Amino acid sequence: MKVVRNKMTNEQKALFIIFGGTGDLAQRKLYPSLFNLYKQGYLKKHFAVVGTARRPWTNERYQEIVRNSISGMEVTAQQANEFSSHFYYQSHNVNDTEHYETLRKLADELENKYEFEGNRVFYFAMSPQFFATICQHVKTQELVTEKGYNRVVIEKPFGHDVKSACELNDSINKYFPEKDVYRIDHYLGKEMIQSIPALRFSNNIFNALWNYRYIDNIQITLSEALGVEERAGYYENAGALRDMVQNHILQTVALLTMNAPTMYADEDIRKEKISALKALRVYDPEGVKQNFVRGQYGPGNGQVAYREENQVDPHSQTETFVAGRIFVDNMSMAGVPIYIRTGKRLTKKETRIDVVFKNAPYNVFGHGKLKRNILSFKVEPNPGMELRLNGKKVDFDQYSIQSMHLRHEHGEEIQSKMPVGYEKLLYDVLQGDSASFSHWDEVYYSWRFVDSIRQAWDQENLPEDAFPNYACGSMGPKAATDLLKEDGNKWHFRPDEA
Ligand code: NAP
Repeated sequence: MKVVRNKMTNEQKALFIIFGGTGDLAQRKLYPSLFNLYKQGYLKKHFAVVGTARRPWTNERYQEIVRNSISGMEVTAQQANEFSSHFYYQSHNVNDTEHYETLRKLADELENKYEFEGNRVFYFAMSPQFFATICQHVKTQELVTEKGYNRVVIEKPFGHDVKSACELNDSINKYFPEKDVYRIDHYLGKEMIQSIPALRFSNNIFNALWNYRYIDNIQITLSEALGVEERAGYYENAGALRDMVQNHILQTVALLTMNAPTMYADEDIRKEKISALKALRVYDPEGVKQNFVRGQYGPGNGQVAYREENQVDPHSQTETFVAGRIFVDNMSMAGVPIYIRTGKRLTKKETRIDVVFKNAPYNVFGHGKLKRNILSFKVEPNPGMELRLNGKKVDFDQYSIQSMHLRHEHGEEIQSKMPVGYEKLLYDVLQGDSASFSHWDEVYYSWRFVDSIRQAWDQENLPEDAFPNYACGSMGPKAATDLLKEDGNKWHFRPDEA
């Protein structure tokens, strides 16, 4: 579906029902994103938000919370008041059937007041353990409408392995068909992740070169400088593999390795992403040993070790770092190693992709090695791209080659206009554009791949002193560097050496 943003004519009509309306995600991400859509005119008169959670807040208290959550943005008092007047609070326990009846009555009253044309977005901003019961009640207590659309937005994590993801999916699909399920991966809302298809499929220079003949390897880094902060309880069970690889990294791999879609439309894109994820080479335990590295941070840079963090088992074997060598066995990318790494308490926070091209087959300039061309997508903190080329060094008495960098950074003005991840995704939900959401088949193939690694690691008898194996402030364990060395490669992004 082609999405046209036209502020004058594009007012969206919808009622949002947010389960978990008092939570961190709602306050930090959803209300500011809804406000941006409101400020731009995509949400105007015909929208309202019902926030639900157990605590007994009043509408006034809730509206104050909403105003607080947008107070750091460019907003006048009048805008804040008008925007927050569209917010209603309903104290609600998701396990209590009667509460859904009260919710239905409120939703119907608001329909009469705001005329949403029956469009409803059910946003599950709470723990996945509740998703099945919410779906069931929303359907059986007739919160869905006959007239408009009824879309369900689901936060990660979507299961913790293939089995639990299948069960969760079955329990949702019993009540909502796949076309109405929007599985959020907020990385897919990031501007430079969205730019991957644009760069690949609108430039013949890349279109022609994007295959095993010309690409030597691809490197994906999602590095975080922070530790687990207040998420230790969740993280202890998830670890970096489930928290980052199954979703953000594999979605990025899919965008980098999929074949060109027939059209840039949601169904066509999803079809190609599913094929790419289906083609992921699934490892046996020996393959996992050869291709994957895990790590856990020890002390360093004035920070404590992971095992000393609050709510973390002092003998924890949870990985806070993963690096791996992935292959997508399809016709265009077969044999191209895709190196991935992600971790906490690394040298700096940065997300980037470096596509490393093969060297020219012959160096007509004589001795010395030419540097390889590298196309870098800089996702954050400074969105932009860079292309490393070889060029002539300005010199008087000899003809020599040096590296040159073509750089494009989205300037401050463009950055200030960039939709933040959630804003773009909420807009897409309203438009019914599911291109930037994970289809169930994508989730399934991602879990299938991740499960093979998790199971191999779980079967391994890791000695307790295997961790910690990297210091806070480094770029992970030495084995992550060795992984590339074995192939004669190295990480292009090495902030620890700067
Ligand atoms: P949170 O701050 O703990 O919020 C949970 C919400 O659920 C609260 O509003 C809580 O309010 C409500 N709740 C809990 N039990 C309930 C029940 N039985 N009935 C009704 N409401 C109930 O969690 P969060 O950080 O917002 O995360 C929500 C979901 O988003 C999680 O799945 C998380 O993994 C995912 N996520 C969060 C972030 C983030 O940045 N926070 C990022 C990515 C994904 P009451 O206690 O008042 O009931």
